[in-house]
Amino acid sequence: MSTLLIRNAQQLIQCEVEPRALLRGKTQGELPVLEDGYVLIENGRIASFGPSSEAPDRADKEIDAHGKLVLPCWVDSHTHLIFAGSREGEFADRIKGLSYEEIARRGGGILNSAKLLRETPETQLREQAYRRLLEVQGMGTGAIEVKSGYGLSLDSELKMLRVARWLKEVSSAPVKATFLGAHTIPMEYRARREEYVDLLVREMIPRIAGEGLADYIDVFCEKVAFTVEEMDTILEAGARYGLKPKVHVNQFNVMGGISTAVKHSALSVDHLEVVGEEDFPHLKGGKTIATLLPSAPFFLNDHYPPARKLIEEGVAVALATDYNPGSSPSGSMPLVLSLACIKLRMTPEEAINAATLNGAYALELEKECGSIAAGKRADLLITRQVPSVAFLPYAFGSDWVDQVILNGEPI
Ligand SMILES: [Zn+2]
Repeated sequence: MSTLLIRNAQQLIQCEVEPRALLRGKTQGELPVLEDGYVLIENGRIASFGPSSEAPDRADKEIDAHGKLVLPCWVDSHTHLIFAGSREGEFADRIKGLSYEEIARRGGGILNSAKLLRETPETQLREQAYRRLLEVQGMGTGAIEVKSGYGLSLDSELKMLRVARWLKEVSSAPVKATFLGAHTIPMEYRARREEYVDLLVREMIPRIAGEGLADYIDVFCEKVAFTVEEMDTILEAGARYGLKPKVHVNQFNVMGGISTAVKHSALSVDHLEVVGEEDFPHLKGGKTIATLLPSAPFFLNDHYPPARKLIEEGVAVALATDYNPGSSPSGSMPLVLSLACIKLRMTPEEAINAATLNGAYALELEKECGSIAAGKRADLLITRQVPSVAFLPYAFGSDWVDQVILNGEPI
């Protein structure tokens, strides 16, 4: 048995004796903190934590965290980490005046990534995805979700999900895979979209579920992608194969996607840059979490989700990066934390809860990740010496992550 002791931490953030899950309303803003604490890790798990005065005398290895904060790693519950290449050309086009929707209509955007992905060999996709995974882990991300959705054909979607399966094997922290064949209508199906929905329902979902390649199913419900009725059909097919929904809704338009997703017991509804009054009752007090992705409207210069209203209405809020080549080419959870506070007007406590415990809930990992609690995975982030927890979102762009521990081992 190998032990690692972190002692003298200025504060342990998000430590729990009684496990909590799905923080909403008032509890979304309650962040448990222990002054001058220790964490003992045994075989990749948190064995105990408490005041430094009660720390065990010895361990195989020790880290002195004097003046530093210790947090659970971020849980990034929405990413498109597996993609080929990059799209900085479109970035330049948008600066010159084209909108994201206009670029998508011209066959750019997701279709551009799909073309490149289809041409990229699986080994290269693995390498690119793995580089990104290591990059975000260095910024404190532990558990992460990755989606398919740039394949848009059976073979290429399978290729992406095999890369996701490989990431699960090589990652030091949990990886969840989501099938997003319904990301957009591929070019060759533009004139016969019902055939593509049919392909998803009759071939892709049964095959992918049959091979155990996906944990969840996703649909991009939006004017440039799939209608609410199409999402309904696709989610129903997913449910027949045990795939729970995590869906893209309300990014640019209010279309009624939230009520349909909740009807299908979606684990999360993601984006919500625009929310109609009629949407709130479906989310209030329910089990579906609202996952907000502020780097996307930041990058697209678009408006931000109504986080304050969601929290005030008792909707549980998670935060994630949406790391993808088109609308959020950043997997930085520290940046997301700052944007949540600056642009969404979430308090630092609400944002940290959203990025840890609620993120874990959005991946059904709340018993494993998201807090410092005995028995949970030892995926921990140690900051540099900082004055307080509010300093973390305040010092945006600063590199205040000192050390990351995954599965009980410093990376
Ligand atoms: Zn996304």
